Amino acid sequence: MNCCSQKPVFEMHSGEKLCKPHFTEYFEGKVFKTIRQFDLIGKEENLGVALSGGKDSLTVLHILHRLSMQNPKIKICAIAIDEGIHNYRDKTLETAKEFCNKNSIDLHIFSYKEEFGLTLDEMLNILDVKPCTICGIFRRYLLNKKSRELNFTKIATGHNLDDECQSVLMNQMRNDAGASARLGPKAGLTQDSRFVQRIKPLYLCTEKEVTAYAFINGLLDSFNECPNAIHSFRVQVRDNLNDLENKFPGTKYSIVNSFLQVLPFLKEKFKSGSVKACAKCGEPSANDVCNACIYLEKLKNSIIRVV
Ligand code: SF4
Ligand SMILES: [Zn+2]
Ligand SMILES: [Zn+2]
Repeated sequence: MNCCSQKPVFEMHSGEKLCKPHFTEYFEGKVFKTIRQFDLIGKEENLGVALSGGKDSLTVLHILHRLSMQNPKIKICAIAIDEGIHNYRDKTLETAKEFCNKNSIDLHIFSYKEEFGLTLDEMLNILDVKPCTICGIFRRYLLNKKSRELNFTKIATGHNLDDECQSVLMNQMRNDAGASARLGPKAGLTQDSRFVQRIKPLYLCTEKEVTAYAFINGLLDSFNECPNAIHSFRVQVRDNLNDLENKFPGTKYSIVNSFLQVLPFLKEKFKSGSVKACAKCGEPSANDVCNACIYLEKLKNSIIRVV
C-alpha cells in the first residue's frame, strides 16, 4: 500500500510504501519522539555533535541543526576526530567540512597526529592490536576531553538501533554485562562533571532508515566504509544480525526493546562510586592510569625498541 499518489522511496516493515515527504516526516517524528521519550535534550543546551562525515552523524547533525534554528536556546556545533586513516577519514572529513560550511555550523577538528604524535595508521604499524580497540579508546578519550574544554553540555552521536543491537549482542558474547550497562540512549554510568553526557537521538532508527534519510535528503552522495572494519567483531555480528532480520523481521527492535527493559537494573548494578583521575594525564579513569595513557606508553616503548 502506498502512502499517497507520490512516488514511493521507502518500504516500511509493515509493507507500507512511503514517498519522500511522508518518509521524512515519519523519520524526523521518530527522532523527536526519541528525544522526548528519553529526555535527551533540555530547554537550554550547548550541544556538540560528534561528526564523522558518515550518514549517521550527518543525519543527526542535520536534524539537530534544524532544531537549534527553531530554538535559539539550543546551540549546536560539530566536533570531529581525525584518527588518520588513509583514504577513508580524509574523504569523510571533506564531506563533514562541506556540510558545516554550507550550513554555517562551527566545526572543531582534533587529530590523533596532533594530540598523540601518531596517526592511527602509524600506531597500527607499531603495535599488534585490533584496530577498532585502539581507535575507540583514543576517540572516546579525545571526544570527552575536547567536548569538556569546549563547554558542551552534551555530545550527540549518530548511533542507531543497529549499532545498539550489535553492541548488546557483542557484550553478551563477551560476557561483559558491565559494558552493556554503559549503553542506552543516554550513554554512560557515572554522573561526573569530567564526563560529558553522550546522547543518541537516532537510537530507535534502523540503519536502513538512516541510510534512506541521508541519501533522500542529499546529505551525502557516496558510501565509505573504514578499511579496518572488515577485521572487526562488530562487522561479523552486523552481518549475522542482518541475516536474522531478513529471516525474522523485527529481530533488531525486539533485542533493543527487551534490552531497554533491563537497562535500568544494569545501570543500578554496575554504577560505580568515585571516578579516579589518571595519574599520567589527569583525565577521568576507572583505573589508576587510563587506557589511552596505557596504549601511549606501549607505543612509546615500541618506538624506543625499534630505534
Ligand atoms: S571501523 Fe574501527 S578503525 Fe575504523 S573508524 Fe571505526 S573503530 Fe576506528
Ligand atoms: Zn506520501
Ligand atoms: Zn591518562
